[in-house]
Amino acid sequence: MIEIILVESDTIDDKVLFSCHSLIAAFFSGKKIQATLKEQQSYKYKLKIHFNGCRPQPVFKFEIFSQANMLESYSHQGTDMGIMERLTLPGKESVLQILLKQATVTFLTKYTKEIAPWGILTGIRPGKLMLKMDELGIPDVTKTRLLEEIYLVNSDKIVLLQAVAKAQKPFLQNMKVRTDLASLYVSIPFCPTRCYYCSFPSNTLDSSDIEKYLAVLVKELELVGEMLKNKGLRINAVYIGGGTPTVLNPQELAKLLDAIKKYVPLDKKLEYTVEAGRPDTINQEKLSILERCSVNRISINPQTMQDATLQRIGRGHTVEDVYKCYELARKNGNWIINMDIILGLPGEGFREIDDTLNKVLELNPDNITVHSLAIKKGSNAWADNYTSNSLKHWLEIQKHVHTSITSRGLIPYYLYRQKYIVGNLENIGYASPGNECHYNIAIIEEKQNIFGVGAGTVTKIMNFENATHKNIYHPIDLRTYMQGYEDVHFKVRQAFN
Ligand code: SF4
Repeated sequence: MIEIILVESDTIDDKVLFSCHSLIAAFFSGKKIQATLKEQQSYKYKLKIHFNGCRPQPVFKFEIFSQANMLESYSHQGTDMGIMERLTLPGKESVLQILLKQATVTFLTKYTKEIAPWGILTGIRPGKLMLKMDELGIPDVTKTRLLEEIYLVNSDKIVLLQAVAKAQKPFLQNMKVRTDLASLYVSIPFCPTRCYYCSFPSNTLDSSDIEKYLAVLVKELELVGEMLKNKGLRINAVYIGGGTPTVLNPQELAKLLDAIKKYVPLDKKLEYTVEAGRPDTINQEKLSILERCSVNRISINPQTMQDATLQRIGRGHTVEDVYKCYELARKNGNWIINMDIILGLPGEGFREIDDTLNKVLELNPDNITVHSLAIKKGSNAWADNYTSNSLKHWLEIQKHVHTSITSRGLIPYYLYRQKYIVGNLENIGYASPGNECHYNIAIIEEKQNIFGVGAGTVTKIMNFENATHKNIYHPIDLRTYMQGYEDVHFKVRQAFN
């Protein structure tokens, strides 16, 4: 049963109170507690927040109950509101929201004895705050102070944000100037088996579904390609993800890549990524097709180098498969290879993660992406009520992983966070300098037009004048996508005019 934490206030309006939802949930992530404002018949805990609104320094009072018993009471004096109102802040939140979040983090840190490495930041793209501060012309020293004192971000995460911002700078500058270039994402939402933690719209294999899906995908590529040509746009980053794109047989793979080549206007300097994902879906024939079609980046994702865990999470391949696939890929192409690993898999602690990391580092991939497990609705892990260890535990492991990877010369170049992520951490992409993936930066920072083709994809149409964008979604369900792809394309066309 999911434990409910009920958040109540008679002095703060629902909208402001609700903005603390993710923040409160993050402190209880290992216990799967949902913050909710709705009246619940039964709940495990109730958090009552009272706000006195006195200027200049308001006071927040917190009381936490387990049913009728009060467990803790705490008063927090907020920062001077006048000072806060005079600051140039990069976010959209009101002063009251910020003060409430600061007070909530302070109380919950004290009450749960957990750490909030990201302070009051709850969005999935913390890098955007750095970009906004750049746009506002805020000097570096003030940026650091704002992150530390207003957003309560810990010093390691500030250093991480600064490193990522530095690595991304040339990419983002280029996206700003070269508005004639765009990215293309193509989804192959099929996998050989379903991973324990998967909440993606991946469908297990059915050859007739794949055939029909591919036929529609090719038609959509033709439509998108024609639109791009009419608008004078070229694609400088193609990313085929999923799912597991290499689950396609060689003929299907060739059909897809040939269609991209035929219909889509591709830039001469093209980054072309295919997620090989599962090592057991790769063979020499498929690698030759990828090479022939100018693919220059692939992902081989072990997630862990522990056979027992691979079995536990239903990956359907072994550590030996990872080694064989990696060797085959290195022998049969001159690509940049990324490897994904996940922190927080069932049954894994420091020992297993350290062993996985060492084995991956020995292979010397050009990119490593370190995910922290996020248990989302729709996954078997969610249904099982899977819980992970405390925040502190994961912070220490992540620090070790970060140090080990960066000491090999790889740099963090993009990061994003997710709801219900283990240890309230983040996912970080590392690359050897010069081997960063443009598409990953584009999708996270949302500074370039991105065209999504296939079920569950999103198209992001930029308004470069005010640095905003519009998202247009394809439905996740395969059949709904296949029936309605032209309608979605029509919306993309309209938004693009
Ligand atoms: S490989 Fe990725 S998309 Fe496929 S089942 Fe596993 S988590 Fe889901």
